Amino acid sequence: MPLAPYAMPVSRSRGRRYPEPAHPYRNDYARDRDRIIHARAFRRLEAKTQVFTRRYSDHFRNRLTHTLEVAQIARTVAGALGLNTDLAEALALAHDLGHPPFGHAGERRLDELMREFGEGFDHNLHALRIVEQFEQRYLEFPGLNLTFEVREGIIKHSRDYSAAEFPALAEYLLELRPPLEAQLMDLVDEIAYNTADLDDGREAGLLKLEQILEAVPIFREQYTPIDRRHPQARAKLKFNEALKRVLDQLATDLIEETRRRIEQAGVTDVEQVRHYPERLAGFSAAVAEQNAALKRFLYAQLYHHPALQEERERSVAILEELFRYYLDHPEAMPPYYAEKARREPRHRVVCDYIAGMTDKFLLEQHQKVAAAV
Ligand code: MG
Repeated sequence: MPLAPYAMPVSRSRGRRYPEPAHPYRNDYARDRDRIIHARAFRRLEAKTQVFTRRYSDHFRNRLTHTLEVAQIARTVAGALGLNTDLAEALALAHDLGHPPFGHAGERRLDELMREFGEGFDHNLHALRIVEQFEQRYLEFPGLNLTFEVREGIIKHSRDYSAAEFPALAEYLLELRPPLEAQLMDLVDEIAYNTADLDDGREAGLLKLEQILEAVPIFREQYTPIDRRHPQARAKLKFNEALKRVLDQLATDLIEETRRRIEQAGVTDVEQVRHYPERLAGFSAAVAEQNAALKRFLYAQLYHHPALQEERERSVAILEELFRYYLDHPEAMPPYYAEKARREPRHRVVCDYIAGMTDKFLLEQHQKVAAAV
């Protein structure tokens, strides 16, 4: 299918930092997607918490399987809108590369620790450092040497950064919107985790069907007719059927509303998308409210559930202990980081080292030094 006129064509990419010859049969965005999949940081997503740790079950989402679900939804939505699916897929696969161990709680604690030094931790900025510096795989250049649009999308997929606050990001056209492929990311991410967390939360026994039906209208509206039609069917299959329809409803609404806004705005070129005063991708008002209700429910009933909270608090306390230990004993880090800590701000080097760890590796490192902390 030809790209829509408002899509980001690879032929108009602003290119790579280190120019490379074209590949005979893969375009630059497809190549970026493949480089991300072959990156170490990508493989490590497998052992990073999404919401549930391995303690619950081996078939719950981790950050890698979550990423694959996001990629799959991103490809579908981008394809339906005539957008560049190779770019959308690369962005989706990269969207969580910068996540530290222990999910959002780990990110928050790392950020608090860095604030003691007047800095902070932001997973988007960290992802950019991973793909630009930390991944050492190629002879000709540091990092993955990704195209401009993929790096830009890593930065801008979920929020806007001001050039005044982040001068190092000035090259990423901060006053402009990213292409639609990047604008979709935050929304498809939400579709993926809102539905997945409902699923895993119920499977873990932390959320009850009755509770979901009462508090989540978007789920209830899909479940009720299924239940009426199949009163004798297995509860779990009815739940799955309803959840599948919720996912479909969210994705369909995102496609239709974004298409409507594109038409209304009259944008017919990616540069017009960039210069349009606001982001064009989004849910309709009605579905945005239903999605918000789902999100509120998950916050109140799942993310803050005592069963998860307790383990989370223990995990981030361990993260903090390890952070402080390395600050005092940089020589306890591997030689590459120990050496770097002599030349660069120590807290930054410690932060980068810890942020790259998987949950399991962090716990093991903590075990090693536990006697000393
Ligand atoms: Mg995500």
